[in-house]
Amino acid sequence: MQGDIEKVLLDRHTIGKRIDQLAAQIIEDHDELENPGGNGDGGTEITLIPILTGSIIFVSDLIRRLPLRMQISLISVTSYPGTATQSHGATVEAALTKLPESLEGRHALILDDILDSGRTLNLVSNLVRERQPASLKTCVLLRKQRPEALQTPVDYVAFDIPDEFVVGYGLDYDDYYRNLPDIVTLRREVYAST
Ligand code: 5GP
Ligand code: MG
Repeated sequence: MQGDIEKVLLDRHTIGKRIDQLAAQIIEDHDELENPGGNGDGGTEITLIPILTGSIIFVSDLIRRLPLRMQISLISVTSYPGTATQSHGATVEAALTKLPESLEGRHALILDDILDSGRTLNLVSNLVRERQPASLKTCVLLRKQRPEALQTPVDYVAFDIPDEFVVGYGLDYDDYYRNLPDIVTLRREVYAST
């Protein structure tokens, strides 16, 4: 597996430090939503909506830095089936999706691994918005430097990266490499052989 790596784009320490900052920002913004100008009475809970499967490592690291009362509702979206390295359009996998019928009175925070064409985030944002949360924010670990990604509205981005196919830290190629602790690109031969 290590021999398949072409280069490390983001190492585990860089990722960890950035997630510390991101968590601090989310807490600060959440306090402000709960208590605008310091006068509100607060009490609105948060529902995190992680998009499976790529966001699992990111989410597990982030939530342990968020001392907020929260629930988690998973949603599964497929866009890069098997050995594809280009988006094939986003579809929700109903069997793995547990979104409540209503999110009224809750702050929703959608979390994904990477923003590429924007289809996944748009699809999930629409599904969540229909459930009328008190507020809706979106957060991605990575955003690719391509026009579609940069034009997609998103509240939090941990890292902007070049428009390359990356794996590791939850992101896969053909469902492999999710367990790599760093975010990397793969050698050309890996794709040629599948
Ligand atoms: P979008 O819908 O924005 O085109 O793509 C978002 C989804 O596609 C992500 O949740 C991720 O699953 C997948 N994806 C997009 N770019 C990459 C990439 O560079 N590497 C991997 N492993 N998955 C990607
Ligand atoms: Mg995904």
